[in-house]
Order: sequence, then C-alpha cells, then structure tokens
Amino acid sequence: MWLLAVLTVAAGLVGAGLAGVTITVFLHRGLTHGAISMRRPLYELGRWMTWLTIYMRHWQWRRVHRKHHLYTDVWIDEVRHDPHSPIVISEREGIDGFRRVAWHMAAIFHAEATCPDIVDDTYDTDADRPLDGWDRAIFDRPVVGAVVAGLLYAVTLAVVAPIATGEARSLWFEALCLVAGVASLGIHIAVVLRFGGAINSDCHRGAQVTDGAGYATNVGLLSFLIFGEGEHLTHHLHPQLARLSRHWDLGWRVIQVLRTIRLAEVRVERESVMAR
Ligand SMILES: [Zn+2]
Ligand SMILES: [Zn+2]
Repeated sequence: MWLLAVLTVAAGLVGAGLAGVTITVFLHRGLTHGAISMRRPLYELGRWMTWLTIYMRHWQWRRVHRKHHLYTDVWIDEVRHDPHSPIVISEREGIDGFRRVAWHMAAIFHAEATCPDIVDDTYDTDADRPLDGWDRAIFDRPVVGAVVAGLLYAVTLAVVAPIATGEARSLWFEALCLVAGVASLGIHIAVVLRFGGAINSDCHRGAQVTDGAGYATNVGLLSFLIFGEGEHLTHHLHPQLARLSRHWDLGWRVIQVLRTIRLAEVRVERESVMAR
C-alpha cells in the first residue's frame, strides 16, 4: 500500500513538472512574449498540454500576463491595473498581498479573467495565432481537461501499480487506483498553484521600484526550482529573451532541444543583449 502512495505522489510531481515546462516554455516565453517562434506542431502540443496540465485557457493566460507587464505593480482603475500585484493588493485591501498572491492565485486569475479587457482582444497582437474551432470546442473547457488528467493518472496507476507492488488485480484495487489518480491530480494542482504564487509574490518583493519593472526582483533559489522563472527582474526588463537565466534555466534547456529538432526558433540571443 505504501508503494502505491509513493507512486501517487511521484505521478503528481511528474505532472506538475510537465505543467511547469508548459507554462514557462509555451505560455510564457512562446505565446505571451514571442521570445521563441513556435512551429505549428509545437503550438498544437502546447495548447493540448495547457488543457491537460494547467486547466486555464491559453489565451486568457497570455492576456493576463501581458497586462501584468503593462501595469506592473500599478493600479489606475478597475480595468487598468496589475492583475496580481502583491503591493497593490496590500495597499488597496489592507491585507498581506504577498500571502494572498502566494496562496490564492487561482481565485485572483479567475476574477481577472472576467475583466472586459481580458474578455476582449485588448492585449492581442497581429502576431498571435487566431483562436479556432479547437479552442472553442476543447480548450475553452479547462474543467474537462482536469477530469481527463485525473482519469489518465488513474489509468496509469492502474497499469503500473500492480507491476510495481505485485498486488493482484481486483475490483477493489482498481477502485483504489481511481482514488489515487484523484490524489495525484490534487498534488499536481497544489504544486503548480504554489509555485505560480511564489513567482508572482516572492519575485515582486524588491526593495525599490525599477523603471518598467515595478518591484520585480531576481530570486535565485526560485529559478532553480521553477525552470529559470525566478530571474524575474531581468525578465521584466528584457521580456524578449528566451533564455531567462544563465544558471538553472531548465526552460532554456528544453528550448535548446526544441530548437535542435526545428520546432522552435529563438528570436533574440541573450548574449546579444546582456553580458551575463
Ligand atoms: Zn512580474
Ligand atoms: Zn513575462
């Protein structure tokens, strides 16, 4: 039984890792900033992975993040504002905005997604691929993606667990694998939300405002844990760079592989913009 518990946790962590790569490479560096240009197969893989591992609409993620870059740590009015600035939340609501962003990113994101400038195409550009029938039929249903992911976890555990544990297959064991699959999905979602919250809170704890970057700061330890994304001040200043960090940037390693197999092109080399 304990081996099934280990497999359940391991599966959830692998799924969270795939989600992290999908966020940093596809949603963030590719879709939002165009730091890599993606060939059609990579775009297709990315939106399927977003549906299966992130449970957000890829166009909403792109719009909310572009808005964050436009109004970093600034509030002008109900529409024109940083969607998830811990500083703005602290000032406006009189609560610990860092705690709020760290632990409640899903609620913040869903509230922001109803803003008129996120619902419409305010932050879209001509370079964005237009939404198509797949987006309307499949990718507009993130909850279905989560259910499918839960079933995939359950089936994977049902196949792997009897081999790993030596347990004989039975209806009871299959039912247990279904429960374990739901648990894997829960671990996956919790880890993704926690690290997403960490980027948007801890990486905006800078001591002073940097022009165009708000209170963004670089957090080396987070870069190690979340594929280079902790290099947040550098990213705000140079969002066109596909390589966020010279150290610990697993997202960049993935991009190097994608570039080698000609699924992606890097628009601007980091070395041409900055020495380090
Ligand atoms: Zn930021
Ligand atoms: Zn960004």
